[in-house]
Amino acid sequence: MKAIVLRKINGGIDKQIALADVPKPRLQDEADVLIKVLEVGLDGTDKEIIVEHYGVMPAQAEHMIIGHELLGVIEEAGPQSGFAIGDLATVLVRRPCGLPECIHCQEGQQDFCSTGRYTERGIREADGFMGEYVVENARFVVKVPAVCRPYGVLVEPQSVVEKICRQAAVIQERLIWRPQTALVIGSGPLGLLAALTCRTMGLDVHVWSKSAADSVNADIVRRSGGHYHYADETRAKGDGPFASGLTETAAEWGRGIDWIWECSGHSPLVLEAMTILNPNGMLALLGVTPGHSVIEAPSDLLNREMVLRNKCVIGSVNSSRADFEAAVARLQEIEHQLPGELVQITTDVLAIEQVPGIDFRKIAVKAVVRL
Ligand SMILES: [Zn+2]
Repeated sequence: MKAIVLRKINGGIDKQIALADVPKPRLQDEADVLIKVLEVGLDGTDKEIIVEHYGVMPAQAEHMIIGHELLGVIEEAGPQSGFAIGDLATVLVRRPCGLPECIHCQEGQQDFCSTGRYTERGIREADGFMGEYVVENARFVVKVPAVCRPYGVLVEPQSVVEKICRQAAVIQERLIWRPQTALVIGSGPLGLLAALTCRTMGLDVHVWSKSAADSVNADIVRRSGGHYHYADETRAKGDGPFASGLTETAAEWGRGIDWIWECSGHSPLVLEAMTILNPNGMLALLGVTPGHSVIEAPSDLLNREMVLRNKCVIGSVNSSRADFEAAVARLQEIEHQLPGELVQITTDVLAIEQVPGIDFRKIAVKAVVRL
């Protein structure tokens, strides 16, 4: 079958992304399913793998199939799988480390793996989904209702948003938590999903991002009833320790921000977000920072803000089965309240043959490979 692989070249010294012909996977277990791949979404991690060959291949392997955001249809179902032929499905990304000292992986919480020795399909030491077929054990497969077919490829990124919602609900049991306002920093696919999610909760949503004011991203935010702020236009207001203009812009919004989602990965904004968050608020960090930036920061101010105003900062990566199932429900709610918006996030549809030559600078919001 056709698949996009990260493979070793030049005797293992270099790597490249290539379209390859690989063996079609077969059922190995009575609980396995064979999934015919319909769509595979590309995110920032895929960009790093495709452009910088960041993925980690299995030991001894010459190649690894990439891709981790899957929508597919069950074509063969093992008798113990609980699935039926024709069901739509997606697949969890991370697999447990299996080490005896990792209580989280042992209890099915591999998204909280404490050893760092987990594997991830399409990213780290396990084949991913960007091929014609995938075989997986039903314990890692999540059913997607047929009605979700147009936007079901977004279940995996939405599950990352849902993990924050779930954790925020638990953490904020410490007080009466009725957030009214949200700020999303960054308007990539994850930022947009966070913004749409907050809109379905009835929050007043502000998105602050470097995408232009007339971009597709900005249009989605405004059509959802949110407010879009183009970062380049606010920078001129910037003063004080951070100088991005975000603090000064947010000061114009009236009642402040109860819930901030940092989805840009620009780390100085993490510190700035701590200072503009309302008392008792929640700052969720979802953006990964690849570099090694060092900045001067007002540490006394940051500490005062966190302690004297009961603020909470939470980092989060990956997601669990419960989050995938919550994502399936939430996407339907978004589609119900904001019909037609989810499919607008997929701006670029590619054939599998186009992946090795993809130019990410030309992707407006999100690219999806359609098989
Ligand atoms: Zn583990």
